[in-house]
Amino acid sequence: MREVYLDYAATTPLDPRVKKAMESYWDKEFGNPSSLHKLGRRAKEAVAKARMTISRILNCGPEIFFTSGGTESINLAIFGIVHKYDLAKTKSRTGTRLSLGQKRGHIISTKIEHHAVLKALEELEKEGFEVTYLNVDQYGVINTEDVKKTLRPDTILVSIMYANNEIGTIEPIKEIGKIIKEYRRQKPEIDEKTPFFHSDACQAAGFLGLDVEKLGVDLLVINGSKIYGPKGIGALYIRRGIKIEPLIYGGGQEGGFRSGTENVPGIVGLAKALELAQQEKNKESRRLTGLRDYFINEIKKVVPDAVLNGHPINRLPNNINISIPGIEGEAVVIYLDQKGVFISTGSACSSTSLEPSHVITALGRGKEYASSSLRFSLGGKTIQSDLDYVLKVLPRVVSKLSFSSRQRAFVQTR
Ligand SMILES: *Cc1c(COP(=O)(O)O)cnc(C)c1O
Repeated sequence: MREVYLDYAATTPLDPRVKKAMESYWDKEFGNPSSLHKLGRRAKEAVAKARMTISRILNCGPEIFFTSGGTESINLAIFGIVHKYDLAKTKSRTGTRLSLGQKRGHIISTKIEHHAVLKALEELEKEGFEVTYLNVDQYGVINTEDVKKTLRPDTILVSIMYANNEIGTIEPIKEIGKIIKEYRRQKPEIDEKTPFFHSDACQAAGFLGLDVEKLGVDLLVINGSKIYGPKGIGALYIRRGIKIEPLIYGGGQEGGFRSGTENVPGIVGLAKALELAQQEKNKESRRLTGLRDYFINEIKKVVPDAVLNGHPINRLPNNINISIPGIEGEAVVIYLDQKGVFISTGSACSSTSLEPSHVITALGRGKEYASSSLRFSLGGKTIQSDLDYVLKVLPRVVSKLSFSSRQRAFVQTR
């Protein structure tokens, strides 16, 4: 049976060129970068070289810190900054006694962030920080005016993703970066360095520019598993001069921000994957945009109820997200799996309850749109005949499921 993988936004296969670059670091060059001898020095050099490759792409100095992935980088960025610039702490440093219920600071984010961001912010709320979750419009785009209006003297951090993992919408990061910079310049003094701007670029790294000066970000997160690199490796850019609290304490690796023996093969692989992704992004974007728009056009002909989620143009070249109201997304995923088509739904399913996607919900459509959303994410090996196969099998799956849901409704009304 034909197998069609359309879940590249969940993870990508390792590029053979990345695999080759990593190869010798598993066994031949296995040294610990902290060791003083030749093998250690060679491993240290490999890590330094990888850092330089990434720095060049991000247009920054060596302020790149390696972690175990996107999730850890995001947690390090958010907790690291917010705990360092905790207003309660700032006051206590200058001798002011802390009173109970002391304001600790304000954070701005959005309703459509990845759970790595949202769950970290939930924890900070429990600690007494205040978080504003900005709304998005019907396409999932943040209104930059809302950012401007929400900034306050006690805002420590603004965390807004570069591109959304479910619906592919690209956020106006540059404009937000400018707004924050301008606010920082004019703000009444509490801590003149704040607010800092963090962006989760895990989905964007394969297709969009990552120049941190152009973007105006202070912290940026990328990972290997979404760009044909290895899983379990990520990086955090922290603008020079900004201090953070570590999450992990120990031997003081990665400038003390992230202790633990470096994942040398992973680090080498991440740098190689990012280098290739950025070299090939324009060509690959053009190719995938063509396939994406072909599928979006065709799907409307064969499944007339299908509605596109996310922005019609300003979206990642590889992302297609549709809702078919009345059809449970999970059911479609399971039926398509049986036909050899591997996709995702926006909604996370637990054993007892179907929790509709928080991203589709934030678009302001009904609940039936959130629980019926389907994500087809294209990638390196996707060709038009893969999409034609899906266009052939999907309508059958949909009609089967809509028949059984009509039957259920009929039984319920009797
Ligand atoms: C995958 C992803 C993450 C999490 O990265 P891991 O490496 O799996 O920890 C975070 N944010 C976005 C947007 C992602 O797509």
